[in-house]
Amino acid sequence: MEEKLHPINDSNQIYSKKFQQMGFSTRAIHSGQQPDLIHGGVSTPIDLSTTFAQIAPGELKGKYDYSRAGNATRTSLEIQMAALEGGKYSQIFSSGLAATSAVITLLEVGDEVLCIDDVYGGTQRLFRKISAVSHGVVFRFEPLDDLETVKPSLSKKTKLVWLESPTNPTLKVTDLKKCIEIIKEFNKDIIVCVDNTFLSPFNCNPLSLGADIVVHSGTKYLGGHSDIIMGMVITNNSALNDRLYYLNKCIGAVPSPFDCYMMIRGIKTLGIRMAKANTNALAVASYLTKHKKVEKVLYPGLPDSKYHEVQKKQLRKGEGVGFGGVVSCYLKLDLKQIIKFIQNVKVWILAESLGAVESLINHPALMTHASVDPENRKKLGIHDNFIRFSVGIEDLEDLIGDLEQAFDAVDNEKNNTKF
Ligand SMILES: *Cc1c(COP(=O)(O)O)cnc(C)c1O
Repeated sequence: MEEKLHPINDSNQIYSKKFQQMGFSTRAIHSGQQPDLIHGGVSTPIDLSTTFAQIAPGELKGKYDYSRAGNATRTSLEIQMAALEGGKYSQIFSSGLAATSAVITLLEVGDEVLCIDDVYGGTQRLFRKISAVSHGVVFRFEPLDDLETVKPSLSKKTKLVWLESPTNPTLKVTDLKKCIEIIKEFNKDIIVCVDNTFLSPFNCNPLSLGADIVVHSGTKYLGGHSDIIMGMVITNNSALNDRLYYLNKCIGAVPSPFDCYMMIRGIKTLGIRMAKANTNALAVASYLTKHKKVEKVLYPGLPDSKYHEVQKKQLRKGEGVGFGGVVSCYLKLDLKQIIKFIQNVKVWILAESLGAVESLINHPALMTHASVDPENRKKLGIHDNFIRFSVGIEDLEDLIGDLEQAFDAVDNEKNNTKF
């Protein structure tokens, strides 16, 4: 018997078509979601079954046979996720890195990948330490935000280009449309994948800029409450989607139905959360720019950022759309003072990750990017006086007030030690 391909939940698909042309939040709330057909329950049911009754051997009662291969709760999330990125298909994985890993598993031994140099640390570790060593994929890391480097870095063996924009933590922006044009002109069969975690589908839709695949760590803005680890892959290419579905099923890095439900719930408020994070982040970035203890602020939303115009051009159109919630900066303080500053904040939480309702502070050199070797860190600009903020959706005056008192406390501390 032929192996079944991706089970499509027809009733959900048809229901979702009604909302296809509507605004972002309408799609986020309704796509893939449908009042329960028996009782009319409004929230998406969590279908915990691992296996499903069959009428005759191989003849399914419904659309599913075994939950690793698919279940109704996950299908609802797939449809919701595809609708947000303006894609036809989506596959859901148990983490962002599981999604990344599946995309790299599309390749074969000897295939080459061109990757932006300042890529997310975990992606870099997966590529360098696992895919290159165990699976024979060849990686080349280049500063692809500089379009001059794109064409000379491609070869006949290049099968995939991995982009991330803006990058983490130095927030470099690539002109995606132009970059993808250069790649496709060189060889239209090269697959271009964009990790869109930092902007979320609310701020940017890379498929509309020419990308073949969009990847998300749903752990960040999509879930939005620091309580789910998940990853997504979205594409308009049905052959790629079939292969990704097959890889998902074969490798088995799938999320639980309960986590899918939590994600669906989180995504429904993505629009208002992201809009608030966008305005809060811009205000925090402007505040930092004016502070005498701050050397330099990196945020593409600031009009004097060298990436401002490029980023503005490739944002989605719509009310509340902005430059994202991550702001980085260099402080005019030594490491001891910076640690004091970080420990003095009361509203902001010292923690890795980003993209949730609560605001976080991270010291990349000592935390998220500690595994990047010091030489590389220096090259990327991740110095000891470098701080990354994930601006959440608290009241702005409390966020800024908290930073102000923490900056002041550094001085007091210094005076105390002097006397
Ligand atoms: C967090 C993150 C990932 C990895 O996602 P996980 O869900 O932690 O596996 C990938 N890319 C970016 C940009 C991220 O921020």
